[in-house]
Amino acid sequence: MKLLVLGGTREASALVEQLGGQAILSLAGTTKRPLVGPHRVGGFGGVDGLANYLKTENITALIDATHPFAAQISANAAQAAALVKVPLLRLNRPAWKDEARWIEAPNLPAAAALLPAKARVFLSVGSRSVEPFLGRDDIWFLTRSIEPAAHLPANGEQILQRPPFTLAAETALLKAHKITHLVSKNAGGSATRAKLDAAHSLHIQVIIVKRPQLPSVLEVETIPDALNWVQQIKGIK
Ligand code: NAP
Repeated sequence: MKLLVLGGTREASALVEQLGGQAILSLAGTTKRPLVGPHRVGGFGGVDGLANYLKTENITALIDATHPFAAQISANAAQAAALVKVPLLRLNRPAWKDEARWIEAPNLPAAAALLPAKARVFLSVGSRSVEPFLGRDDIWFLTRSIEPAAHLPANGEQILQRPPFTLAAETALLKAHKITHLVSKNAGGSATRAKLDAAHSLHIQVIIVKRPQLPSVLEVETIPDALNWVQQIKGIK
């Protein structure tokens, strides 16, 4: 049994740890010093590259445990797995559900357009998603990411931090920077959830970016369910 787990999330790393020697964790290489165990790094070279890897490495099954906004690799995984007939499972943590407390934007440019002039925005979208906000010189942005962003908004401040974040720390951060608006992807999970609760208690307007549409594949939401699927595959193979 040889599993390939596409990672870049806490869930992927935890799953690979629980699977022991049966699984290879794959990372894109976005984070310079990832806090994970053994892994391979770098893109496969599109659908054909991934299909070729699955074949040449004799991968029994593929688990796509990438971030819900990593749409390209999830699309590639669906196509490559179908091409070489390798069973595929997506481990996708549930989206945050708090619609009454936020405005939903269909994508990042729409979120940028929703922000009013002179806002003080906590832009919590990751270093590679800042670009749609660069034109908003009328806004002050606090950005936070693990890796520095290649380009930053003209007005603002950047902090480099890794999750998880506590409610107390998030509340203090929002207060210290006099934040009026929070922009976040609907990442789900508990590690970065506190900012939403902090924003709510401080009456800060939250703009949540909707998850991208991903190909329809077999999907579970938890690590135990992913482990059960692996047991089923083991029974078949
Ligand atoms: P993406 O747009 O879906 O993928 C871009 C390309 O990066 C893919 O076509 C693939 O290159 C390579 N790639 C992505 N994930 C990979 C993996 N786990 N192993 C090997 N290659 C991978 O991805 P992204 O949004 O830039 O995210 C990159 C990574 O960061 C993902 O693994 C994701 O789990 C993690 N992450 C993303 C976000 C986010 O907001 N997007 C947040 C937290 C963590 P090839 O076509 O050459 O194979």
